[in-house]
Amino acid sequence: MNRRLLFWIPVALRLLLVVAGAGIVWYFFGPVVALAAMLGAMVVMLVTQLHYLYQLSDWLDNPGSARLPDGWGAWTDIFSRLYKLRRDDEKNQAELAEWLARFRQAMSLLPDGVVIMDDVLFLEWCNPAAERHLGLELARDKGMRVTNLIRTPSFIDYVVLGRYEQPLTLNLRERKLIVQIIPFESRRQILVTHDVTDAERVDMMRRDFIANASHELRTPLTVINGFLEIAYAQPNLELQTRMSHLKLMIEQGQRMQNLVEDMLTLTRLESVEHPLRPERVDIRTLLEQIRQEALALSAGRHQVSLEIDGPDIRGSADELRSAFGNLASNAVRYTPEHGSIALTWKMTEEGPRFTVKDTGIGIRLEHIARLTERFYRVDKSRSRETQGTGLGLAIVKHVLLRHDAALEIESEPGKGSTFTVKFPKKAVFAE
Ligand code: ADP
Repeated sequence: MNRRLLFWIPVALRLLLVVAGAGIVWYFFGPVVALAAMLGAMVVMLVTQLHYLYQLSDWLDNPGSARLPDGWGAWTDIFSRLYKLRRDDEKNQAELAEWLARFRQAMSLLPDGVVIMDDVLFLEWCNPAAERHLGLELARDKGMRVTNLIRTPSFIDYVVLGRYEQPLTLNLRERKLIVQIIPFESRRQILVTHDVTDAERVDMMRRDFIANASHELRTPLTVINGFLEIAYAQPNLELQTRMSHLKLMIEQGQRMQNLVEDMLTLTRLESVEHPLRPERVDIRTLLEQIRQEALALSAGRHQVSLEIDGPDIRGSADELRSAFGNLASNAVRYTPEHGSIALTWKMTEEGPRFTVKDTGIGIRLEHIARLTERFYRVDKSRSRETQGTGLGLAIVKHVLLRHDAALEIESEPGKGSTFTVKFPKKAVFAE
């Protein structure tokens, strides 16, 4: 039914009831009493209306405080509709608060920084990533001008010029950030920051690696090409000279092969698609093999001993063979003739230990921290003479990282070095 009729019909009926009542009173008691009764009824109705009006005004002052009365007549409908409005409002507010909380949480998980500013760059809100990137603190800096908080000249220029289509590269607090301002709504702007420090570092490492690898490959290639050119220009070279050239070419070819193999090993170790698949590593078999390889490389120039007093472990036998083999071959290559090399496997309180101890040339302290860097060598010529690639200890480091193990190096120049691989207790293979 029409809302207007719904309102007016009960009102009209109530008025009709009063008039009808007055008519009955008139009939029995005369007009004076009837008019007085009607007036009384009107006063009661008026007071009731005023009472509800007061309650409404009281409730409007503080809508959340009290429940609305049930009301009477048209008030029942008004109150129930107001009550419903308030409930809807409360529900909307709760939804809004929940949505805002979710939005804040999403923003706080975002790796990129987001700063909301007004049109004159006063800070309104920012997420934790922006706090970290730009050194802001929302609680402290809210309402401050962003150009007073980030005073780097290139940032100020960017803001002054207002060429926001292009992002700005900002070096701030030892990090490299890509920053861009995006105007939105009519009086607000968002500043977005993206940290590219790590990506940049990885990129630089990759560039360095390619440059180093090319440099390493260029030398043997130049040697081989040189001899090939000689062989081409002088086809009648003496057999002895030709043989010595061929021997050098084979050596250089071997060097390139070692290098490529080590680079492939490193790449394989680094690739996420090739995770460690732990298996039982038979330590005795593995270390006997390492000792035999070391003896073969030494060709009778050194003593190589092996002592095993510890359990088998869980890990990748292939990877550990490569790591332990590198340590043992380094010991042979950097130990002069008649020196000795001791390989030991033992169990300690903290976990299993593999030690390679030599009586070789030793390493000066300032080099020790850098030995596991790719292509880092203390003595370049000695490394090359002994077919070193400069990647051996980098491979060791990666393999150990994948086994939660650590490498410890102790050395004294002229006396010898000790390389210790420390495995955690949990590496022990349990039957
Ligand atoms: P390389 O192929 O040159 O041996 P590595 O990464 O295996 O490369 O080792 C890096 C450098 O560490 C070597 O060039 C050498 O100078 C030094 N080094 C490694 N092991 C020993 C050792 N047992 N004694 C002395 N120096 C060593």
